[in-house]
Amino acid sequence: LVVLKDVNKHFGDLHVLRDINLSIGTGEVVVVIGPSGSGKSTLCRTINRLETFESGSITIDGKALPEEGKELAQLRADVGMVFQSFNLFAHKTILDNVTLGPIKARKTPKAEAEKRAMELLERVGVAHQAQKFPAQLSGGQQQRVAIARSLAMDPKVMLFDEPTSALDPEMINEVLDVMVSLAKEGMTMVVVTHEMGFARKAANRVVFMADGAIVEEQAPEAFFTAPRSDRAKDFLGKIL
Ligand code: ATP
Ligand code: MG
Repeated sequence: LVVLKDVNKHFGDLHVLRDINLSIGTGEVVVVIGPSGSGKSTLCRTINRLETFESGSITIDGKALPEEGKELAQLRADVGMVFQSFNLFAHKTILDNVTLGPIKARKTPKAEAEKRAMELLERVGVAHQAQKFPAQLSGGQQQRVAIARSLAMDPKVMLFDEPTSALDPEMINEVLDVMVSLAKEGMTMVVVTHEMGFARKAANRVVFMADGAIVEEQAPEAFFTAPRSDRAKDFLGKIL
């Protein structure tokens, strides 16, 4: 579904993505892990075309990432993204946060968008908060709203960039549970996270990055118990 071939990107002199080759099949869940600054966020942002890249190719469903215009808007709808910092619209209600995309970008009639939004809010367990504003919700609830908002666009793939790292410990599991259920239902997902519980429960593959390159790819259990590379051993020694 998502295929990256020899993707390279620099920020000035810094080579942030080095010959990235990665292919993610439909329904596959890939966890991306690696030290700070290794390029995990840049990788997600590049797949979503929030960043440009200099060489190589990225295709989604066989189509190259569009440059601009209508096709770019379609890409953003097809590739959902959930960030560390929720990024909800502060001055809009929870319900409006979820319906805005479908109404604006998909021209979904308001009543239909609201019906679907309520179903999604129900699914992530925050339907009773629909008329509140983001600041009135806990971080865990806001992040679940952000997931519902992405789902409202019917994405083909969802990218999660450290979705739980800004949350208090007691709220992490309520967000991970939603992600695990999404994974079980067959959503294609790229998840940057150091939550090994999630990786073990839901991931098909762990991709370990260091210095802008993919250093190793393994099944979760194998990666955590028997990493091959010294970089991964060193990294796991620090986080475990
Ligand atoms: P973290 O675990 O801290 O989130 P990361 O693996 O997500 O790290 P990136 O955010 O992708 O890493 O950053 C990769 C490198 O690119 C870092 O050295 C970072 O400082 C640099 N970088 C990121 N964004 C920019 C930018 N807009 N301009 C210049 N350099 C950037
Ligand atoms: Mg990051």
